[in-house]
Amino acid sequence: MTTPSPTELIIRHGRVMDPSQNVDRTCDLLVRQGRVVGLGALGDNLPAPASDARMVDATGCIVAPGFIDLHCHLREPGKEYAETIESGGRAAAAGGFTSVLSMPNTRPVNDSAAVTRFIIETARKLSPVNVFPVGAITEGSKGEQLAPFAEMQEAGAVALTDDGLPVMNAGMMRHAMSYAAGLGLTVIDHAEDLNLTGAGQMHEGYTAVRLGLAGISGASEEIMVGRNILLAATTGAHYHVAHLSTAGALEMVREAKRRGLKVTCEVTPHHFSLIDEDVKDYDTNYKMKPPLRSRADREALLQGFADGTVDAIGTDHAPHAGSEKMQEFAQAPFGIIGLETALGLALDRLVHTGRSTLTRLVELMAVNPARIAGLDKTGRGTLKPGSVADITIFDPERNWTYDANQSFSRSKNSPFHGTNMRGGPVATIVAGNLVWNVERKSSV
Ligand SMILES: [Zn+2]
Repeated sequence: MTTPSPTELIIRHGRVMDPSQNVDRTCDLLVRQGRVVGLGALGDNLPAPASDARMVDATGCIVAPGFIDLHCHLREPGKEYAETIESGGRAAAAGGFTSVLSMPNTRPVNDSAAVTRFIIETARKLSPVNVFPVGAITEGSKGEQLAPFAEMQEAGAVALTDDGLPVMNAGMMRHAMSYAAGLGLTVIDHAEDLNLTGAGQMHEGYTAVRLGLAGISGASEEIMVGRNILLAATTGAHYHVAHLSTAGALEMVREAKRRGLKVTCEVTPHHFSLIDEDVKDYDTNYKMKPPLRSRADREALLQGFADGTVDAIGTDHAPHAGSEKMQEFAQAPFGIIGLETALGLALDRLVHTGRSTLTRLVELMAVNPARIAGLDKTGRGTLKPGSVADITIFDPERNWTYDANQSFSRSKNSPFHGTNMRGGPVATIVAGNLVWNVERKSSV
């Protein structure tokens, strides 16, 4: 963003919580020229800020390393009516995210250095948050030819995925993982066996039978997670399971970690908040992939948050225009928006229920995503002196109601419209610039 800003920013009286350096204390935080100078008390162990420094009062709030969404669909290029890099970036800022990873299933697919560069350049001009493109694993995500990983990495791609689709051919995935391991790129997997999914519309179970909708079994996901863990073990690749949704897949990740493999996973806010029984009245805002799973699956996911098996929260923000979602359930596309509700749901459903701590939440939304995407090497996911001043300020107690119609996203497809939440974002700071705050209700 081109917003002119003072060279200094001082965040006062917040509870600074940075698990990357075991910090949890109430103090001030000084930012100079887009970098963190340090933590402390002004005039004591922190130098006095310049007279034109911008001051943010964070009393009663948590000050954390900027949140990073590992899983976001910005739809540009190709489906700008549903979302753009600018509108998605504004929604991210309003959700407390300072960085997002953009999935490559655009039109054209991001399977080249040219598309990667286009995304980066557009984001630099128009998005208030950092956008890190993820390159496709195969050309056009068709599963036939590997995409040019090194060229995309050179252009700025930070990871690889064919998200929206799995890589069905195991030999292709093995080649992809070997190549990715050599380049140090994480392989993000949309784990789904398309032959098992078939024409499935929602989780296979009693609710699907009652509604007369074709089911998608948990095995559709678990078979691919199992296969790809085996390939990760063979190739040494860092394998990251996107939007993990079943108890069985989680157990395989737990076991892989026990074996010391480089395997990580993310869970979406909708999968830890909702279950298949919530799919009522054929409301297509409850149609997503993977589908909302059973109560037992959700219980296992919550346990995975508690015991550390789940590494990150990824939104799978998937904008679809109203006209696309307002079709019969079987015809409507899969996916919901999620950037602006992720933090509220995480606080409300994970922290206030005692399933998770605030420190763990910051790990799930900032520290671990930075490590998974290699962004820790660029000084993100931490507030150590000298790191990039990407900062999320949130109030764990603020009561608010989500109104999808007020979303910065161009699309409004959310099952959480009208949901009351306890806790949410207050201000988003990217490289020392205040790009959104709750009082102004607008991004700047
Ligand atoms: Zn996916």
